[in-house]
Amino acid sequence: MRIYVADISDTLRKIAQKFHINLSDLITLNSRIPDPDHPLAGFPVYLPLAPSYSEPSIIHVTPAPVSEGSWIPTSSLEKMSQTEYDVLIVGTGPGGGAALWRLCEQWRNNGKKIGVVEAGNLLLPTHARNIETVNFKRWFDLAYNSPRFKIPVAGTKFVQLIAVGGRSLIWTAVSPRMYLAPQQWPVPQWEMDMYYRIAEQAMNVSNVYTKGSPINQLFLNRLRNGQYPAAMNEPLAVDLEPTKYGEIHSNVFFSSISFLAKALYRKPYDLAVLARAVQVVTEKGRVAGVHVMTPDKRSYVLKAKTVILSASTFGTPRILLNSGIRGNAIGHYLINHSAVRGTFKFNRKDYPYVLGPIGILIPETEKLPYQVSLQGPIGYQFYHDKQIPFQEEMDALIAGFGTVEPRYENKVTLDPYKRDEYGMPELQIHLDYSEADKAILGQAAEEVKRVASVIGTPLVSLAPDEPIDGDHEAGTCRMGDDPATSATDRYGQIHGVPGLYVADNSIFPVMGAANPTLTMVALAIRTADYIIRKLK
Ligand SMILES: Cc1cc2nc3c(=O)[nH]c(=O)nc-3n(C[C@H](O)[C@H](O)[C@H](O)COP(=O)(O)OP(=O)(O)OC[C@H]3O[C@@H](n4cnc5c(N)ncnc54)[C@H](O)[C@@H]3O)c2cc1C
Repeated sequence: MRIYVADISDTLRKIAQKFHINLSDLITLNSRIPDPDHPLAGFPVYLPLAPSYSEPSIIHVTPAPVSEGSWIPTSSLEKMSQTEYDVLIVGTGPGGGAALWRLCEQWRNNGKKIGVVEAGNLLLPTHARNIETVNFKRWFDLAYNSPRFKIPVAGTKFVQLIAVGGRSLIWTAVSPRMYLAPQQWPVPQWEMDMYYRIAEQAMNVSNVYTKGSPINQLFLNRLRNGQYPAAMNEPLAVDLEPTKYGEIHSNVFFSSISFLAKALYRKPYDLAVLARAVQVVTEKGRVAGVHVMTPDKRSYVLKAKTVILSASTFGTPRILLNSGIRGNAIGHYLINHSAVRGTFKFNRKDYPYVLGPIGILIPETEKLPYQVSLQGPIGYQFYHDKQIPFQEEMDALIAGFGTVEPRYENKVTLDPYKRDEYGMPELQIHLDYSEADKAILGQAAEEVKRVASVIGTPLVSLAPDEPIDGDHEAGTCRMGDDPATSATDRYGQIHGVPGLYVADNSIFPVMGAANPTLTMVALAIRTADYIIRKLK
């Protein structure tokens, strides 16, 4: 038996035709799929190992030239300005990367042209934690103190990472599914489940990273025997497949670079770096391209039938507003997670000799608008060397993330007075908590204290983040059906501008308490599938 992951338009009937398999054999092998005409995109489907089995045709990808010292082929804007793209993607974080990968994966050599513009440069060819010399201290310095990695967002504690790969170069890869209240979330649960499966597969999400780690198991047992039966090994986007048959698995921690790489091996695309999108160009009411600028202020218009903005919760509405594209919700309904972080110390001597990492999640539920996660021992997970320095006292973290209501008055707007070096207006950001948000944050803080007491380690500190802090900001181009309260439709297309899409964290209409990236990637893949259907 072989496993085949269904393409966008596959049903059991079509798969049977594609692989010359008897339909009734296929139905027997896949008895969990009730209907042979049910769309199956992303589902694993069992195929018999029949002699008549024939693989789909082999894909030939012409290797693009790589300039010296660079690890991914790049194009010049001069060259790109002479092409009309079927799809042009702005930004290479997880949103842009996921959309690109899905388009290349599905289109392969069908003649469609894809371009990508990225404001930043080539910075790291992989997640920082995959680099042997980057231990916890160096990662922390990169992630939180380095001016090359962190660009402050004026007036807030938020930061951006302007580089190929976006913030996924330094993220901590925690990837749980989100609780999506059906009355507030425009995509049906069954469809989300399908796209979650595709996203988890593409990002290697599993809970094996901490599974079996002695200290993790000890804390898990205490939690499950206490009042937390749902406590689980934390799902992380890590590739722990052993290398076999010469397939190299050197990128343990997932970053959007993996999306760019997977895409590259499916279909060539043009990528321009140091190419900042400043405006979307429209003609007769539909998208026609993007106005892009270089750091030396050269200006280009790249033509495209479809544009996907993946420039982040702050970058995307900034481009839209600077283009004069006004929708009632564009820039509004900014959300974030409220966060409270506790630390605890434990003495190494009181725990098993082999320690292992801690990664535990107590997930949100319909009734629990927050999640609690345990991570640590701080620094421990970062040592590539087996000889982890022995420390008698170790620190770990218990973090609570709460949901924040989407409210019109929490917003980003263009600063009428300040412009950046590209002439783009700076953003002004307003975000504060409602009374309901504060109450949830209070409950999350109490839960963090309870968790610490159940695992038997008193907290040494406990402090909430400010509303304008953290890495989970979202919602400034929320999707929905009503243009009065949403910026895009349920597929991420900006209301009233055909061909213009959003695929990044700004698309969340509401946000559960789970870390956002997996859910956003699932939505970005879904948006790519929708575009594929539209451009047929
Ligand atoms: C330290 C840290 C830890 C994190 N841990 C987690 C975690 O464990 N789990 C989780 O789910 N999330 C985590 N996050 C958040 C996660 O990184 C984000 O959710 C995710 O990166 C958002 O993806 P995005 O595509 O919306 O934006 P980004 O990753 O910010 O990517 C935006 C891209 O657009 C580019 N860009 C911006 N403006 C322009 C423009 N005008 N023209 C062209 N390009 C532009 C940027 O350079 C960047 O490449 C963490 C973040 C940080 C910083």
